[in-house]
Amino acid sequence: MIRAAIYGKGGIGKSTTTSNLAVALSEMGYKVMQIGCDPKADSTRMLTGGRAIPTVLELVRSRRDDLQVSDFVQEGYNGVLCVEAGGPMPGIGCAGRGIITAFDTLAEMKAYEVYQPDIVLYDVLGDVVCGGFAMPLRGEYTDVVFIVTSGEMMSMYAASNIAAALANFRSRDYARYGGLILNRRNVDKELELVQQLAAETQGELIAVIPRAAEIQKGEEQGKTVMEIFPETEIAQGYRTLARRFLEVCGHE
Ligand code: ADP
Ligand code: SF4
Ligand code: MG
Repeated sequence: MIRAAIYGKGGIGKSTTTSNLAVALSEMGYKVMQIGCDPKADSTRMLTGGRAIPTVLELVRSRRDDLQVSDFVQEGYNGVLCVEAGGPMPGIGCAGRGIITAFDTLAEMKAYEVYQPDIVLYDVLGDVVCGGFAMPLRGEYTDVVFIVTSGEMMSMYAASNIAAALANFRSRDYARYGGLILNRRNVDKELELVQQLAAETQGELIAVIPRAAEIQKGEEQGKTVMEIFPETEIAQGYRTLARRFLEVCGHE
């Protein structure tokens, strides 16, 4: 089983990238589980037709004693298994709690043994690398970490912080840094800036995803571009990302 975390600044396109990557991998025959680790709990929406699924935190808080692993894991488009960690009400409580609870609960419920995914993708909000949000950086949970960024300063700043956290903890059984994914915003000299960031963080730029209007069209229908526009340049970009992803993770 490959366990990979996709980090990046809020709004940079982590969930879009992760969902489309999940579908591209599922097209290649892999069983993929996508775990949303953002208190917004909208990571898997494009896989479920726009429907919000119950979060692990909500289900655990409901204290129902008949909870089953199938309450936490819902099947989305092309068999991608969808999980949302969830989080507190905005402004109250610990935002990392959803991740901690989700990881504990999935282990307790033996979700990986029951569903046996080939690939687990954690979609993690990484503006703040705090205790909760840094959990998926640990080798115990994750093998490889990828960071989504554009050429905008704030997103490169967040990417650089996440890469620095990984570098600092390298000796303590943390995950390996797999590299950067450029999700284009089309800012001036974007490719050069992100290539430079890759060099500075001793990583690799593994894929360049174009900015595409099809993404919004899909979003309106709760669908990935892989599902509704499978022949477009952007869909091919996600397939290229999927192949590179597998190589970096040491598969094939
Ligand atoms: P995050 O999960 O990092 O918070 P999202 O994946 O939700 O970000 O993306 C934020 C917004 O950017 C969404 O409205 C999405 O449609 C848009 N978006 C993401 N990637 C692209 C892209 N390559 N082209 C066009 N729009 C994109
Ligand atoms: Fe929670 Fe993170 Fe805040 Fe700690 S730093 S209380 S884990 S949100
Ligand atoms: Mg998101």
